[in-house]
Amino acid sequence: MNPSPTSHEVVILGAGMSGLCMAIALRRAGIHDFIVVEKSPGLGGTWWDNRYPGAHVDVPAPLYSFSFEPNPRGRRRFAAAPEIQAYMAHCAHKYGVLPHLRLGRRITAAGFDESTGRWAIACDDGTRCSARFFVCSTGPLSQPRWPDIAGLHHFQGLRLHSARWDASLPLQGRRVAVIGTGSTAAQLVPPIAAQAAQLSVFQRTANWVLPRPDRRYHAIDRALARLPPYAAAVRAFWYHALEWGRRGFDEGTRARRGMLAAAAAHLARQVPDAALRRRLRPPHALGCKRLIYSNDFYPALMQPQVELVTDPIERITPQGVVTADGHERRFDALVCATGFDVAHLAAALPITGRGGRRLGDAWQGGAQAWHGTMVAGFPNLFFLLGPNTATGHTSTLLYIEPEVHFAVRAMQRVQRAGRRWIDVRDEAMRAHNQALQARLQGSVWAGCRSWYRQGDDGRIVALWPGFTREYVRALARARPEDFELR
Ligand code: NAP
Repeated sequence: MNPSPTSHEVVILGAGMSGLCMAIALRRAGIHDFIVVEKSPGLGGTWWDNRYPGAHVDVPAPLYSFSFEPNPRGRRRFAAAPEIQAYMAHCAHKYGVLPHLRLGRRITAAGFDESTGRWAIACDDGTRCSARFFVCSTGPLSQPRWPDIAGLHHFQGLRLHSARWDASLPLQGRRVAVIGTGSTAAQLVPPIAAQAAQLSVFQRTANWVLPRPDRRYHAIDRALARLPPYAAAVRAFWYHALEWGRRGFDEGTRARRGMLAAAAAHLARQVPDAALRRRLRPPHALGCKRLIYSNDFYPALMQPQVELVTDPIERITPQGVVTADGHERRFDALVCATGFDVAHLAAALPITGRGGRRLGDAWQGGAQAWHGTMVAGFPNLFFLLGPNTATGHTSTLLYIEPEVHFAVRAMQRVQRAGRRWIDVRDEAMRAHNQALQARLQGSVWAGCRSWYRQGDDGRIVALWPGFTREYVRALARARPEDFELR
């Protein structure tokens, strides 16, 4: 028999950076009656999933920590995945989040009951719970996407996706294929090249690669980082440097000219072979897809045991990969660094709001929300890193924190007013999205295929086009009249 449902003030879906930040904020606001439900057996979200060799964050570590909890323990300016996991574990422990975690449990359905103003939530282990507020922090990059290539499932060697890495599978001395040349591939190609007997990197579209201004953090750096004014100054420096980089996505700016020149010089310096250089030149405008920051991707491609394949893949056979020229290459392992199915998101979950309306239906023409946080008709439901909140230029944590504060303030407003629920007004959500889409239309992101876009019309549903401060201000200055309280 299934246990009777538990009742909570808040249920958080996902124990990644955003779920963790939400949990900490709830405790700091004096809301202790909450649980964090996470499908994986550990804390970390994307940092739990992405354990491929070489995984690290591509923004400087001082900006990849919460504003209230600097991380002075880093070994490098660009932190590796295990360091980030350790930081998250530290935060969870320090801020008392651990007892709230319900790991290895997947939420399978959530429905809002208008009469009680509560969410009824079901999990895959048969447990059920109810919550006044439901926080959905799945993140846009949680569902791995396998490439739609004929024969993929017939491959008889090792088949790996970067976001579901199995470190027990040996690549040492093997013939390895990597499909994809995005941010993930650029990180995993160098360490795989160092192990494999032979490595073929299948590139469908070349990407823009910029140098990564990485360096080791020495004992003196770590000692200084413990001094709050120093840590704050370093953080402020990186904040402004990356915000300046946002200008690089606009035509005709000095920042853009600088980034184009840096990318060209990087390619020229690292790839002396003119023919290879030509194949590595991106066909799309800089910034249209996520920029890659790497010092070792190009050098890895030039190693004698590594080849860059630019002939399109025709099919996969039990032994290897056949390209359009009819050439079959044989492999022991096939690594798919082919990204994520952003369309899945929360829309894949049966979430039903007012009148039994499904979120999947509400998002049929493309996901949309009020500043990525609330969807009209789904009261007391808050998204973290929801539609149009990804950033191509800075740390995603700078977006998570204001979202969390917005959600906590909204919850407190309901509690203080003695009401049952809060909902964003449909007209406010639509007006926001119309303005957003109009702004995105002529932007650099509209010019190529990428995970930022979705649906038949290729609407940009993932990306926030502006500066960070615009987003932070919009959430801080939310107009009460844009919300309905009942
Ligand atoms: P991605 O940017 O979507 O790249 C997927 C790659 O696979 C692309 O090169 C794509 O080619 C290729 N591909 C997909 N399907 C294919 C097919 N059927 N045949 C051949 N090639 C195919 O995915 P990602 O590299 O995993 O990165 C996703 C996002 O994760 C990044 O944009 C970034 O935001 C985030 N990320 C962050 C970090 C970090 O440091 N914080 C690290 C890694 C990733 P096309 O370009 O032609 O589609």
